Amino acid sequence: MNERTRIILNGIAASPGLAVGKVCFWNDPESIPRYTIKPDQVKIELARLDEALITARKQLDILKTRVEKEVGEKEAAIFTSHGLLLDDPAFYARVEKLLINDNINLEAAVEDAIEDIVRVFKKISDPYLRERADDYRDVGRRVLENLLSYQRQCTMDEGEPIILVARELMPSDTVQFHRQRIGAFVTERGGVSSHAAILARSLRLPAVVSVPHALSRVGAGVLVLVDGNQGRMIINPSPGEIEAARKDHDIRERAAERVRVSAKAMTRDQVEVALSANLTRENEADEARRVGAQGVGLLRTEFLFMDRGEFLDEEKQYRAYRHVVETMAPHTVTIRTLDLGEDKQFAFENPVQNAACILGWRSLRLSLSDEAVFLAQLRAILRAAAHGPVRILLPMVAGVEDIRRVRVLLEKAQNDLETAGETFGRQVPVGAMIETPAAAVLPEVILREADFLSVGTNDLVQYVLVADRVSERMQPYYRSTSPAIIALLAKLAQAAQAAGKDISICGEIAGDPMYLPLLLGLGYRNLSVAPVLIPDLAAAVGECNLAQAESLAQRCLSLSTADEVEACLREGMAKSALAV
Ligand code: PEP
Ligand code: MG
Repeated sequence: MNERTRIILNGIAASPGLAVGKVCFWNDPESIPRYTIKPDQVKIELARLDEALITARKQLDILKTRVEKEVGEKEAAIFTSHGLLLDDPAFYARVEKLLINDNINLEAAVEDAIEDIVRVFKKISDPYLRERADDYRDVGRRVLENLLSYQRQCTMDEGEPIILVARELMPSDTVQFHRQRIGAFVTERGGVSSHAAILARSLRLPAVVSVPHALSRVGAGVLVLVDGNQGRMIINPSPGEIEAARKDHDIRERAAERVRVSAKAMTRDQVEVALSANLTRENEADEARRVGAQGVGLLRTEFLFMDRGEFLDEEKQYRAYRHVVETMAPHTVTIRTLDLGEDKQFAFENPVQNAACILGWRSLRLSLSDEAVFLAQLRAILRAAAHGPVRILLPMVAGVEDIRRVRVLLEKAQNDLETAGETFGRQVPVGAMIETPAAAVLPEVILREADFLSVGTNDLVQYVLVADRVSERMQPYYRSTSPAIIALLAKLAQAAQAAGKDISICGEIAGDPMYLPLLLGLGYRNLSVAPVLIPDLAAAVGECNLAQAESLAQRCLSLSTADEVEACLREGMAKSALAV
């Protein structure tokens, strides 16, 4: 393979669209990546080393000037000697040798070179020289940080979109991507229902997940094409492919400008379907409004915290929720209380999240474990409810006792606000997410205490099928078309109808046109999806016919495997397209 060989790496399509750009690695700062490189990558790695050294020199100059000014010249001298270490030809030669002879990646080579040098210094009897070992470590750490920080890597190519290649992306990383020059991302790990994938769709970033060895197959700074439709990354794409990707990008940008004028989606036989929005940032409310969302079906509040990078107090939460409520009024905003857990963690100091647990130490249970934090969120929601219709949604409800505990706290929050003389909404319905098997098998019991239901299929599928939604290995088992899931969806719709209460679906299947006839046929009339999906979903509703959807749903309920259900849904979609 030479530097310009075109190579295709396959993975799973996680977010649609095509994007071209240069690769930057997104590394976990806690661990230094270590992998084998091809001989023709040595030149690229050395160019990265040069960049990292230039950046480190600049950083040291800035530090030296600051310390000189604020502390003194003597103290600042340390940075001059650190600068000299950066220029040490022995260090450069050692790294180069490791790259050429051992074929290891640059980060690993820098780490090894520093350790080799430190070992030599530690053996020296002169105490002054021995202490230089620590300076080497310090300088080495700075160079490594420069290599690992994708923002610093990416200053290499100002103006080019960045294609992030990562082992894995945390939701707290991904939620901040809208602030950066990121055109797409590719990960070695993760499934389509992982939060990174959900966020990619809501940010309209093409993404491919579960690409084996992506980090070692591509070098930083190499031009790649990410094909989020077919689930692949093309290294060194052809000029024709680059042109096609640029066109796709322009089309998507124009589509994003689309305004949906009609207020409600309607099937061919005039059945109304309410499409509301799943939001991860308060500013997305403007987009939700523009595309004609009939409210917010799911405000994932934990992402507002992650986006700001801090734990929001009652006042900050209130302002964020109020913005969404005022933007969406007179439509209803459904605010979900914090839903943190193993797969959704805050990257900053916070009072609620601590001990991890293999299963279940998350969501509402975390909130209930710290009443002060939970009460602050409830008060913020109640205060926002003074500005427009609001509903509270509780994640991962397992039984009515969960709802009862929340109602007690809600009353306390109201009393607190009353005493403080705050204005707040008094009629705030409380709903339950159906995402545990316990809630899904007895919806009629949950409905005795919940004012409405929202089906979180992303989690329901993982808990019913025992298949981790974020694990690439579990993807063959994580099947939303499983007959067990279809049967539960049917049961839930019937239970809500019998109780005369609202039910909606806010899991990712709600935005996938393949599932639309099935969901309508099972009786669902409220779907909540990322705003970007609403225009196409509204069009897909217009192509459906309820009578046909009902017979399709009945057929699906009689099938035995996820593959059979999927084939049935694909056939249904093809027929509905032909009928228009
Ligand atoms: C779900 O589980 O389906 C859901 C909508 O919530 P989240 O994806 O945030 O877990
Ligand atoms: Mg969930």
